[in-house]
Amino acid sequence: MYTLTSILAIIDHQRYRFVGLDLEIVDLAYDTRKIRHGGQSLFFALRSIRDGHQFIGEAYRKGVRAFVVSQADIDTSIYPEANFIWVEQVMAALQQLAQYHRMQFKKPVIGITGSNGKTVVKEWLTQLLLGDKRVYQSPKSYNSQLGVALALWNLNDDYDCALIEAGISQEGEMENLASMIRPDLGIFTNIGVAHASGFPSKQHKLAEKAKLFAQAEAVIFPSRYPIAPLLPDGLLQFSFGDKETDDVRILQIEREGRAHAAVRVAYQQEVATFSIPFQDKASIENVLTCLTVLLYMGYSLEAISQKLALLRPLEMRLQLKTGKNNCSIIDDTYSNDLASLQIALDFLFQQQQHRKKTLILSDMEGLDAKLRGKLLSLLQKQELDRILLVGERLQYLVSELTTPTQLYAQTEDLLFALKDIAFTDETILVKGSRAYHLEDVSQQIAAKSHETVLEINLNALEHNLQTFRSLLPADVKLMAMVKAFSYGSGSYEVANLLQFNKVDYLTVAFADEGVELRQHGINLPIMVLSPDEQVFESLLAHQLEPEIYSFRILKSFIAFLEARQITDFPVHIKIDTGMHRLGFMPEEMERLAGLLQATDTVRPKSVFSHLVASGSAAHDAFTEEQIQVFLQHVTQLEEHLGYRLVRHIANTSGIVRWPSAYLDMVRLGIGLYGVDMDGQLDLEMVSTLKTTITQIKALKAGETVGYDRKGVLYRDSRIATVKIGYADGYNRRFGQGVGKMMIAGQTVHTVGSICMDMCMLDVTDVLAHEEDEVLVFPDLMQAAHAIGTIPYELLVNISSRVKRVYFYG
Ligand SMILES: *Cc1c(COP(=O)(O)O)cnc(C)c1O
Repeated sequence: MYTLTSILAIIDHQRYRFVGLDLEIVDLAYDTRKIRHGGQSLFFALRSIRDGHQFIGEAYRKGVRAFVVSQADIDTSIYPEANFIWVEQVMAALQQLAQYHRMQFKKPVIGITGSNGKTVVKEWLTQLLLGDKRVYQSPKSYNSQLGVALALWNLNDDYDCALIEAGISQEGEMENLASMIRPDLGIFTNIGVAHASGFPSKQHKLAEKAKLFAQAEAVIFPSRYPIAPLLPDGLLQFSFGDKETDDVRILQIEREGRAHAAVRVAYQQEVATFSIPFQDKASIENVLTCLTVLLYMGYSLEAISQKLALLRPLEMRLQLKTGKNNCSIIDDTYSNDLASLQIALDFLFQQQQHRKKTLILSDMEGLDAKLRGKLLSLLQKQELDRILLVGERLQYLVSELTTPTQLYAQTEDLLFALKDIAFTDETILVKGSRAYHLEDVSQQIAAKSHETVLEINLNALEHNLQTFRSLLPADVKLMAMVKAFSYGSGSYEVANLLQFNKVDYLTVAFADEGVELRQHGINLPIMVLSPDEQVFESLLAHQLEPEIYSFRILKSFIAFLEARQITDFPVHIKIDTGMHRLGFMPEEMERLAGLLQATDTVRPKSVFSHLVASGSAAHDAFTEEQIQVFLQHVTQLEEHLGYRLVRHIANTSGIVRWPSAYLDMVRLGIGLYGVDMDGQLDLEMVSTLKTTITQIKALKAGETVGYDRKGVLYRDSRIATVKIGYADGYNRRFGQGVGKMMIAGQTVHTVGSICMDMCMLDVTDVLAHEEDEVLVFPDLMQAAHAIGTIPYELLVNISSRVKRVYFYG
């Protein structure tokens, strides 16, 4: 389709150097970690968190022979076979190419924006249009400046329409996205109440989002958001809501039984009632958006009614689970297409815990000759150890692939064969379309679970990391705190993602935590906060870098290293500026420098201190003083030593509230996990603790519930028993109505004392059924306040017997 010379004609460039024959370009690359065989890739050296120009060498080694760059002085002689195009701005060039490609697509492009619900609306519309139209949708979360460009690149004539998401985080971003996407039809989902960071006001944010529709023919939106006045003249407005003027009028919404809602809608001269399989507000609004889109497209109320009844909630993609025989399983059995397969494979290769990688893959929809070729070349690029295929149409792959590949005609055949296949110490990606129900396969190879689970959303973790990064100047390093099992959310699973996202350092509390990370392929530098003599051997064996906090520990570590004739072992010096926990006192700098200078066993890499109350305005003067004391004494220490050290003092609240404390590096803890102690950022909660109702009983007024008859019932009640108790980390102080949980969006309270493995909830006033899912901490901050603690404690106390399930994608 494209060759390097045709691309040269599309993008504004300053100069170029081409060598050899014209190259055919299939893939756009920007991240060397995702390139496996780069022969047909065009690498864009983007300047974002890292400068892409630094990775040209690595891309070249991976086979890339075509580069778009902006840095003038690249030594091209070391890349004799590489082609270069110099442009002023690499991102702009990428977007220009994406825009050109999009304009070749002559069928409708639908652009979706809004604060929430974009992805759900996109996925549901795809579900709803399935069978009538071949829909292209941008892969999940590909909605940024870069993501949209990549999403558009994959668009081609095999599709009848395209759904593209546009996401922005600050003013001025939408114009670019709009000119790339050029939607024919626009969808506005909603505007969030929270976070106007990046925007002076909510109104500005709305105006910015409206820019997506500048060139569209029509836009669909809920009329309760004041977006109409911001839309360009001449644009057809098609709204839904409860106003007279709405095109689609919502007359009534009612709960219907346990899981459905009945929605009464008037459109033109007709009225109809739809039953939809959701009850929560957000899902209902998303359904209404989809319904309005279908009406706009000309579907009848009758036809829509049938389609809506079949909607399914979006299961989260890419679950990472623990398997039998020390395997890890990535379960992505919800849908199967090339784009999502690519994402799942990237996630597979992010996993460092096992060297061996296996793919179990089902047939995919619409696998025509062209897609067959693409699937083959995608698989050829992967370094897989084994492939198990399901579906006869995939037969062609068996002879073409060099990886050992086995074919099963149906899922049942694979299920039958599973008992004879030895899976050990490997990461297995199970990827299939819904029709193949490969979840049965992943269930068979997964370890059994207790029904209380902690769900860890790795996308949220990534989002939070980006949020903090965007606050930091580019030259400030970031250390991620993964102590205490990453604040309760996991060890290598979390560290893998942090390593992939190139944080600079990890920190654990104890050496064992670091050893665990090393054993699972984490090779980032790791600092250990509380080392003692017993673990010196282990520090050495696993390259863990101790915090040195006193003369006693320093001397014994020096002696230990001397005995083994080790030099230059990296250590981190802790200064006590007011916490009065661990650390050298400020007046000890000279003596400390003397000791450090007299030995070559240790080499200080950084010097740090900890803020006592960085989140508390009442103590701002003290924080200021801590920072000053730190700087002053570090300077003193450095003068004695004769060299500079990496300095760091800011924790999460320090990052949010004290830009003057960024220094050379920051230590990000609780914020990474989504707890916004300062209430200023748009963070996403990473972990969600869920349990289930085991039994419900009807009891009479006067009866009591639980130990010591503490839960006295003052009315006839329905009492639900759930599978979580204080042994799981649900504090006993949550008993007697102090704890709040949530069932299908409804708040309920505990009754009686919390037992070891269970507790009871009063569900008299709500809809609840046995086996329902229960959210244990609907509001973590509130829960912590209720029992006089802080969110940190609730998170780290979630017992290790509660299974962690990781989601990504
Ligand atoms: C835990 C810890 C942090 C992180 O603190 P948060 O408030 O969670 O960001 C930073 N530095 C040290 C020394 C810590 O022990």
